[in-house]
Amino acid sequence: AKRVYLLSEARGLSRDLLGGKGHGLAEMAGAGLPVPPAFIVTTEACRQYLKAGEVPGLWEEVRAGMAALEGLTGKRFGQGEGKAPPLLVSVRSGAPVSMPGMMDTVLNLGLTLEGVEALSRATGNPRFAWDSFRRLLAMYGEVVLGEGPEVFEGMLSALKAKRGVETDAALGPEDLEELAFRYLRHLEARGIPFPLDPWAQLQGAIEAVFRSWLNPRARTYRRIYGIPEDLGTAVVVQAMVFGNLGEDSGTGVGFTRNPATGEKGLYGEYLRNAQGEDVVAGLRTPEPLARLQDYAPELYRELLQVAEKLERHFRDMQDFEFTVEWGRLFLLQTRSGKRTAQAAVRIAVEMAEEGLISREEAVMRVEANALPGLLRPSVDRDKAPKPLLKGLPASPGAAVGHAAFTNEAVERFHAQGLPAILVRPETTPEDITGMYLAKGILTARGGLTSHAAVVARGLGVPAVVGAEALRVFPEEGRALAEGVEIREGDLLTLDGGTGEVYLGAVPLVEAAGEALLEKLLAWAEPHRRLGVRANADTPEDARRARAFGAEGIGLCRTEHMFFQEERLPWVRRLILAETPEEEAEALERLFHFQKEDFKGILLAMDGLPVTVRLLDPPLHEFLPPLEELARRAEEGDEEAGRLLKRAEALKEANPMLGFRGARLLLLRPAVFRMQLRALLEAARELKEAGHDPRPEVMVPLVADPKEVARARALAEELFRKYGPIPFGTMVETPRAALLAAEIAPLVDFFSFGTNDLTQMAFGLSRDDAGKFLPRYVEEGLFPFDPTERLDEKGVGRLLRMAAEEGRRANPRLKLGLCGEHGGEAGSVRFVADLLDYTSASPFRVLTARLAAAQAGL
Ligand code: ADP
Ligand code: MG
Ligand code: MG
Repeated sequence: AKRVYLLSEARGLSRDLLGGKGHGLAEMAGAGLPVPPAFIVTTEACRQYLKAGEVPGLWEEVRAGMAALEGLTGKRFGQGEGKAPPLLVSVRSGAPVSMPGMMDTVLNLGLTLEGVEALSRATGNPRFAWDSFRRLLAMYGEVVLGEGPEVFEGMLSALKAKRGVETDAALGPEDLEELAFRYLRHLEARGIPFPLDPWAQLQGAIEAVFRSWLNPRARTYRRIYGIPEDLGTAVVVQAMVFGNLGEDSGTGVGFTRNPATGEKGLYGEYLRNAQGEDVVAGLRTPEPLARLQDYAPELYRELLQVAEKLERHFRDMQDFEFTVEWGRLFLLQTRSGKRTAQAAVRIAVEMAEEGLISREEAVMRVEANALPGLLRPSVDRDKAPKPLLKGLPASPGAAVGHAAFTNEAVERFHAQGLPAILVRPETTPEDITGMYLAKGILTARGGLTSHAAVVARGLGVPAVVGAEALRVFPEEGRALAEGVEIREGDLLTLDGGTGEVYLGAVPLVEAAGEALLEKLLAWAEPHRRLGVRANADTPEDARRARAFGAEGIGLCRTEHMFFQEERLPWVRRLILAETPEEEAEALERLFHFQKEDFKGILLAMDGLPVTVRLLDPPLHEFLPPLEELARRAEEGDEEAGRLLKRAEALKEANPMLGFRGARLLLLRPAVFRMQLRALLEAARELKEAGHDPRPEVMVPLVADPKEVARARALAEELFRKYGPIPFGTMVETPRAALLAAEIAPLVDFFSFGTNDLTQMAFGLSRDDAGKFLPRYVEEGLFPFDPTERLDEKGVGRLLRMAAEEGRRANPRLKLGLCGEHGGEAGSVRFVADLLDYTSASPFRVLTARLAAAQAGL
């Protein structure tokens, strides 16, 4: 099969084969946009190369491709001819899924010593020619020959120091020539000589791009974003155009709509007299595109037309790269732009209103898992002090955390459960781990399209970039801002919506609801069949969830109420009780607390179902730690002494598999009765006051129908007095799922507790799995973390089986899901046709609603 396609031949071929970059270039060329001639080596060739180490026949195809480029440009590869400069190319990576900056690209390829002369003659600019050459040497040295980039940076700095100059621009042509020769000699001495034959360069670069698919940062990126490992990358070989030929040249990136807010209009950045990578790397802060209106209005108008054409062609917001060579515009890349959740919603809704896409497409366009990001807080301006710094608002949301200057520092804070703010001069793809774990990102340099800004928006992490007054010294673990020193661990607050940065922890305010989101959800709702409830333990959570559209509570955990300060002593007395009287007194106290709690929640959800789960955790969780008790007992505290004895008796090797859930209720039925009575009485009082409470009750952690029958019998005693309410059980042990047909006739509903069900199905503890589970995902053993997204194959199979067999045994059985997965879009889509409702934490209710609707489209 053919493995090399010219842009003109590639039109209509799949993105999987051409990679995103190649596909975009082919589409643009086909739409009549100005694109430098190029050919694409397919992902198939890459896969074959990575498997076999070679691709027979590929080289002949590449040669033919180069001949075509020579024909299209009228230049000869690597060789000047007459007045014409040599044809130089870029060798660019491009995977089917966008992985910005993760793999390698080599520019100016094909230059040799004779080529430099020819380029210098043709452009009349020897400085430019030598600069291009030394850039090639450094890039090729790093990407293909494997030399560390700091070596070249070091030689550059050394030369600048020797010449007594600050910037690269101050180096003359002879300096750059000298530098180029130093690079050449260095590579020679290292035993990795730079090939002065253009064809050898080309072959080396293509293979290096193939191999860059496997580099560690690309792997990390794929793991974080759930991109399959076996796609491979395509390679684009494209005629070079130069943005660094003078003031009427330059390079930039554009967005057809604002990626932070979604606002329509050309938006982006431009750097005069510069080559591509300079913008993305954030080394110099570029100027806003709008500035072009002043000094290059023609170019600006042309860019507006390009933006318009791109949107019509791709029917989505585009993020494009361009270069201007001596006033002439060339497009080098386009892709669907990454955007914040806020922008995603606005763009989808407005594009539907403009008639560019349908309403259904608009609903499908928004990543449901990103919606909680819409609800990100901002700094409470009324309570905020004067900001320490101001940078560019790169990714909205406010964050408070400890200053961390390296990936390792972020990881350290993270491991201690502390929030970190990653503070860097600028970020590079190497910083991806730190950026992923940080609560906020702050950089001193770079624009709104710098690496830091793009990645932060993609990750949904608040970020402020280009805070020019900041100087960061990562090796010294400190930074300086307006004369103030920031050391590792110092608290910072940043607001990625305003660009402001504060010293210390500043109060935040929650985001207000979004009118556009309401509109999108209104379009989505008719397609949703699955009910959406919330996991809520307090009236406040219940109200919040209801405001987000929750249709009831699917999980109300009663033990959270037990942990409150004035109650805990009574819980402990209950645990300690030695006589029925002591137990009764403690229960009576707790009864009143619980009744009031239930009234508050039932009232907040008036008219909607509220499923209360009876006491679930092992009792020892309510006692102070053993060591503390031992110490206090030692000091003569009598109560501590008694608690210590109880705590020792209750101690379990595996508490999560121990005396908890239904087991607890059956051995201490008085607790069960108290809780249910509190619920029933709360409902009765509300009903008498004219409200419409809809309580339901469920038993946690059952493994056998006999447990359920026993609990049901206890409940029936109370139902005879108060009237019945729906009675259900959680299905969260594999055995309960296996015996669903026997359990179903005993209950009105199942609620799948997928947290425990996942733990027990995999035989791994969620609390400890953090130590090794990421490795499983990293190495591709698991496609994603099953504690985050429901494992369809195994746990999903248990769930499906229990649902189907349960329904067969009891046709009136209602089915719900109440684990963390209940608010994760992929999991919600999986259960959308299987269950009656899902239940999510309040902030994830919107995600669940949208995902459930998407499942119906
Ligand atoms: P990435 O995938 O990291 O964005 P690219 O392949 O887009 O890498 O290349 C990096 C930079 O090099 C881009 O900013 C682009 O502008 C520039 N570049 C790539 N090919 C060419 C070319 N043929 N002419 C001029 N600049 C180029
Ligand atoms: Mg690019
Ligand atoms: Mg559970």
